[in-house]
Amino acid sequence: MIRLNHPERLPPLEQYGVTVLLDLSRLLVVADEYADVVTVSVVDDAAAGGGDLSSLETDRWGIRIRQGGIDLPRGLLELTRNIVGAAVEQRSQARDRFDRVPPGENPLVAAGRWERPLVNAIAAEVRSAVREAAGRRPLRMVAPWPEGRAWAAAFTHDVDVVTGWPAFALMRVGELVRRRELSRAAGVIAAATAHVGRNPVRLAVDEVLAVEREEGVRSTWFFLTGTPSFATWRRGDITYAIESKAARGIVDAVREADGEVALHGSFDTLTEPESFERERRRLAAVGGRVEGARQHFLRMRPGRTQAAMATAGLLYDASYGFSDRNGFRLGVADVVPAWNDHEGREDHIELVPLAWMDRVLSKHQRVESPAALAASAVESAEACRAVEGLWVGLWHPNMTAPLGFPGAADAYREIVERICQAEPYVATLAEIVEWCRARRALRARRVNPDGRVELDQTGLGGHRFVLRDETGRAV
Ligand SMILES: [Zn+2]
Repeated sequence: MIRLNHPERLPPLEQYGVTVLLDLSRLLVVADEYADVVTVSVVDDAAAGGGDLSSLETDRWGIRIRQGGIDLPRGLLELTRNIVGAAVEQRSQARDRFDRVPPGENPLVAAGRWERPLVNAIAAEVRSAVREAAGRRPLRMVAPWPEGRAWAAAFTHDVDVVTGWPAFALMRVGELVRRRELSRAAGVIAAATAHVGRNPVRLAVDEVLAVEREEGVRSTWFFLTGTPSFATWRRGDITYAIESKAARGIVDAVREADGEVALHGSFDTLTEPESFERERRRLAAVGGRVEGARQHFLRMRPGRTQAAMATAGLLYDASYGFSDRNGFRLGVADVVPAWNDHEGREDHIELVPLAWMDRVLSKHQRVESPAALAASAVESAEACRAVEGLWVGLWHPNMTAPLGFPGAADAYREIVERICQAEPYVATLAEIVEWCRARRALRARRVNPDGRVELDQTGLGGHRFVLRDETGRAV
């Protein structure tokens, strides 16, 4: 257990960094002023934060242990804001051809450290420093996920294609031919021809839902919600109306499977923040409650787009993934609060970073084999499990043989089966976000002399938390 020294005196930036690091450390925070627990203080230490990541890491991120407490250097909290709060990306003026902040602007990409959730590792270092400082004081950690699970996984889907599938099949054949993948292209043409007059997108959606049902997975689906036109088709934006019979059929199938319907923000939302509210309402009229969003093509202005989502009443954003590689854009495998760098404060929206996406492999790394696709998803999930974190994967339901991806259905089945074998907590993103919010707010109101803890029940929203001792045993 730990107590923060004078939390009320921390400015927003330090409050943000401490909140993130302590939540990821899983240490139980005590509000009882008289309890004999490890204290955490924020101190000035110019050295920490200024250096490069590997020298900071060698210096245990500048964390210092003293009698009965630890000191976190202010520089470490700035580093946390820069990475987890995406402050560096928010300040970048660079843009790629889709008007996004290019991956090279990300501080973890620049340092070659995007493949592992680095900030989870920093938080583990905070935990071990507290353990060293504790001496004989009792330690309590919060079990991070419901049902006593050691990690969590979320399966998500962006619905980019509903109608006009032959156009997408043709584009994909063009891509394969340009890459000299001629036998694969021939396979696509054969599969597409066999599906003339049928609805392969809907068949693929039903297959995804069937695989998930078998494994007890409930997933999250992001739907485009704008008005299709020749111009939106041409730029790869809106290609269907959410009110169409075909789109409603998919929404209904997701709802019947107890999945979550969420918003896939169109290109308009990048330039016109008010369009979030319009799209959210339009989707809600078809699919019921809408709590989260992910941007189509991951197009966003870090910070500003999330502020616009918060204004539209959205609970979370799931857009923080890389467009050209899989990994950890915010350095975390978990849910974190958003940082608004423009206003220098935390924003009222949660971020659920995307760790792995199907199309990164075929589009950017030219990996086409379904087995390699599955192996890369499992490896990414393994990196999240290693830190008792959350894995968020994106599988496009238009990844199906007639639309250009032979063997994709088997790859998805393998991904779901192998990830579920490692027994994660699996739920929709809205449910996971609510859990994480409650976990972050969890406080011990009182520590009794015998070491027993009374939890503050406010803000827990009916969630039940399990505490663990130093050995990891539930207490
Ligand atoms: Zn999309």
